[in-house]
Amino acid sequence: MRPEILFSLFNPVNKLGGIGPRLSKLIEKIAGPNLIDLLWHLPTGLVTRENLEALSSEYVDREVLLVIDVIKHTPSRNRRVPYRINCLVGDDSLTLVFFNGREDYLRRQLPDGEKRKISGKLEDFNGTFQMTHPDHIATLADESSIPLFEAVYPLTAGLTNQTFIKANRQIFPTLQELPEWNDKSLMKREEWSDWKNSVVKAHSPTSEVDFDRTNPARERLAYDELLANQLALELVRRSMKRKPGRALQGDDTLVSKIRKALPFSLTAAQESALEEIKDDMVAPHRMLRLLQGDVGSGKTAVALLAMVRAVEAGAQATIMAPTEILARQHFASIEPLAAKIGISCVLITGRLKGKKRDAVLTDLANGDVNLVIGTHALFQEDVSFFDLGLAIIDEQHRFGVHQRLALSDKGRKENGGVDVLVMTATPIPRTLALTAYGDMDVSVITEKPPGRKPIDTRALSIERLDSVAQGLSRKLETGERIYWVCPLVEESEVLEVAAAEERFEYLKHLYGDQVGLIHGRMKSDLKDQAMQSFMSGDIKILVATTVIEVGVDVPEATVMIIEHSERFGLAQLHQLRGRVGRGGLAGSCLLLYAPPLGETQKARLAIMRETEDGFQIAEEDLRLRGAGELLGTRQSGLPVFRIADLQSHSRLLAIARDDARLILEKDERLHSERGQALRILLYLFERDNAIKYLKSG
Ligand code: ADP
Ligand code: MG
Repeated sequence: MRPEILFSLFNPVNKLGGIGPRLSKLIEKIAGPNLIDLLWHLPTGLVTRENLEALSSEYVDREVLLVIDVIKHTPSRNRRVPYRINCLVGDDSLTLVFFNGREDYLRRQLPDGEKRKISGKLEDFNGTFQMTHPDHIATLADESSIPLFEAVYPLTAGLTNQTFIKANRQIFPTLQELPEWNDKSLMKREEWSDWKNSVVKAHSPTSEVDFDRTNPARERLAYDELLANQLALELVRRSMKRKPGRALQGDDTLVSKIRKALPFSLTAAQESALEEIKDDMVAPHRMLRLLQGDVGSGKTAVALLAMVRAVEAGAQATIMAPTEILARQHFASIEPLAAKIGISCVLITGRLKGKKRDAVLTDLANGDVNLVIGTHALFQEDVSFFDLGLAIIDEQHRFGVHQRLALSDKGRKENGGVDVLVMTATPIPRTLALTAYGDMDVSVITEKPPGRKPIDTRALSIERLDSVAQGLSRKLETGERIYWVCPLVEESEVLEVAAAEERFEYLKHLYGDQVGLIHGRMKSDLKDQAMQSFMSGDIKILVATTVIEVGVDVPEATVMIIEHSERFGLAQLHQLRGRVGRGGLAGSCLLLYAPPLGETQKARLAIMRETEDGFQIAEEDLRLRGAGELLGTRQSGLPVFRIADLQSHSRLLAIARDDARLILEKDERLHSERGQALRILLYLFERDNAIKYLKSG
């Protein structure tokens, strides 16, 4: 239950005076549905006003405060002609201009013959001073109501800064002091003040310095947010670790057999990752480990060896892939190896149905099956294991924390928790990894298998498309395969598919039946068919939308062409490029772009040409685009921060991480005075899901 002290902050926006249904919708759009969301919506700019006694051209285009004498109203009957009001500032004349001004309203605000204080931007219109729509109008008695400094907020059409401020400022007087959850010495060192003060300050800038991300008020709030995030993850991590796991101890017989069956020996990097995984499996606690490795670094082999080790120790193991195609591919590469050493292996996807499915599930439940490869279909309730010991989740960023946990609950209660290994090919910058996977231990595969040739990457204007298409004939003669990826169309899969179909027709015209098509709207068996034909070589050019993004392995593929590459994220381009040059043949990647490119777009394509190091690319991507867009926030499963900015606050993140660990080491149940305050923090940032992981009792 949310603590009472926070009740009012979680009231809906429309509880505020003057905020009806229309405005609350707009506020909800930019900030969120509750009062607290208005507090998290920080200003990004500042108006600084100057008091002017007399008009002077040096003040044109600046924000000024003036005392005016209202002289004469000139209403307008024509919508295209503005309403004008002639005024005097001392002896100088000034015209106030209102578009669609309402006469009754303006006459009430600015009565003839009276003085008023106004603010706004001074303009020069053909030699006369003018002001369009003053932002404040006050009587002289009330002149102090116009502030010298005013915060400027990110807004949306139909919502003015004044309206937002009016809403936001109603909350301040109701703010309560919250018990302090931060460490006193940290506060002192960082010169932070308490929460309430920091909120008000962050909304009340008086100079540009106040917008600096390292401004104490903003830093304190950012730290609070990061601490809530890290505390929540740490609670999950500890709760997982606390659950007794099992010691998956083998005797190396099957593992050494499978090593012999593999057509290669592991790289040193694969070996050391495997060693860390093995240590976790052998230990009597639950493993919750992230295996990070660039595309093509050989995660699958590591996964296979870990699974075989689990089988050797008498348990079942499963690997879950994000797509049907990938699950099939894993199955195709793993099953023959498993068969060689006498391990049974099944595939469970959404397409397994009827009697066949019943039979597989029965074998699984009886323990007649050792390895299971599957998709989300593994989550179905009637999928139960005889004795699941190890669950591996491939390409994690499509799944969330909850799915991780759901899978790990498929084990036998009496045998303790399932060991969980999450594999991701998305090189996540260290900072992001902490916020999303802070609940896990991390292993990284730092090198690629030997013999990979660098991929020749070039950026070309889309105007060269015809000659690029014609140039493919040489590749086709040597039996090489070509991916042709069509533009990403934000928010419209229909348009995306239309573009792919058009390109398909065009290439078919050149190369006939050697061209195939695959896109997200195709039925999955047709997708598989297309992929299958591409693998077997019946199709040599595969026109695709980004469905091929994840993990598909076709050794003969050597050319990757990406249209409108400027629309893709760097991480995504890197993933796509990783699809070629896997089979020992040199690969090439053509990034087609529509000129003219902006500076950032140029810089991004240049990075792609300069490096194949996924981590370096990801760091650059973060720098150029910001965390939100990095992986496509929506589907990434990465947390979205309201105040913290991972670029400028990475220092704070590291502190928050250590702080969270220390806190729970000393006060596992958050019972101490500070612990109680920290519970409030979790609720404040809506991370209260984590409360249920507090050690009960
Ligand atoms: P990832 O899943 O990390 O992108 P994969 O596991 O699919 O990479 O491996 C990419 C390719 O490299 C596969 O064809 C695989 O057979 C091969 N491979 C993996 N490990 C090695 C190794 N140690 N030596 C040579 N080739 C390897
Ligand atoms: Mg893979």
